[in-house]
Amino acid sequence: MPKAQETLLEIDLKALKHNFEHLKSKIKNNTKFLAVVKAFGYGSDACEIASYLQVLGADYFAVAYISEGVALREAGITKPILVLHPQVVNLKTLIKHSLEPSLYNMKVLKEFVKIATAEKQNDYPVHIKFNTGLNRLGFGEDDIDNIISEIKQTTAVKITSVFSHLAASEDLNEKEFTLNQIASFNIISKKIIDKLAYKPMLHMCNTSGILNYPEAHFDMVRGGIGLYGFGNSDKENKNLIPIATLKTVISQIHVIEKGESVGYNRAFKSNSFLKTATLPIGHADGIGRQYGNGNGFVTIKGQQAPIVGNVCMDMIMVNITDINCEEGDEVIVFGQDSTAERLAETTNTISYELITSISQRVKRLLIK
Ligand SMILES: *Cc1c(COP(=O)(O)O)cnc(C)c1O
Repeated sequence: MPKAQETLLEIDLKALKHNFEHLKSKIKNNTKFLAVVKAFGYGSDACEIASYLQVLGADYFAVAYISEGVALREAGITKPILVLHPQVVNLKTLIKHSLEPSLYNMKVLKEFVKIATAEKQNDYPVHIKFNTGLNRLGFGEDDIDNIISEIKQTTAVKITSVFSHLAASEDLNEKEFTLNQIASFNIISKKIIDKLAYKPMLHMCNTSGILNYPEAHFDMVRGGIGLYGFGNSDKENKNLIPIATLKTVISQIHVIEKGESVGYNRAFKSNSFLKTATLPIGHADGIGRQYGNGNGFVTIKGQQAPIVGNVCMDMIMVNITDINCEEGDEVIVFGQDSTAERLAETTNTISYELITSISQRVKRLLIK
């Protein structure tokens, strides 16, 4: 791999293939795999990720918002795309790009039926979402009769799937809660299917659901974070490879004498001699201020260099006193050895937050 000469997010497609195949090995051959590529493919590159997964055989894709689905269509994704949180104001655009809405309450259901009817649609695929304990989005069990009567009054839409979402699939201390969610979903889906003349697909599992609750795989699973290389536990992380490596370079090295300060607000004051390296990456690139003042670190020549002082918009300074390095040398912010999960832990957050924060200013480089 060539050495980085600027800040780069390298995306390793071989690692993506490995993760996809690992997750697929956990499900039955006839269980479909929906790849979640919301938020720019968890901060990587949604269009490249989806294009490659489409070739590898992903059955479905999901995004959060309609604009994300439009971008996938424009990049040539032809597989079905579920929009998890469509906003009513954009529903015509959703239809125009053959995206499939998650309908989670009566207001959105009615609005969608109205628009699909006006657009002269027939059996337009929709997904009905039920809340089984996350208390975020979704119909309740007592909405079933209303949903069915609404659906039976129209030929504009057809229920392609019924689904729900687990609240704590990665936390085995919450196993009883999760099993209750699965049981509620079984009851709800039976009731729905009894009232329809056809059988929609059922799905419930995110990555940790795939790994921890095989009994809840139903007809399809929705894998997100696992594709990007994180399994939400040390045990599962061993089977996955982070696909993204955030690299940068040393712009300048400074010698700091005792009593001098480093960075804005003089947040760091030195009580001994030290050497710092200034790096072209800052909070505008996704390394938030919480990583400053010794919390976060980068890796240079295999050694950890903690962030010194406050994170600036476009730069950070790191302590390289004990590292033999030069201006122009490559720096790893996170990657396959020193992972984003590890860096995220330094500020009490999770891999999901750090990887999705890497801003669009950072150039993406695909490694095939
Ligand atoms: C984001 C999301 C997923 C993917 O979850 P991971 O933990 O990243 O696998 C699945 N389903 C829904 C509804 C989501 O919002």
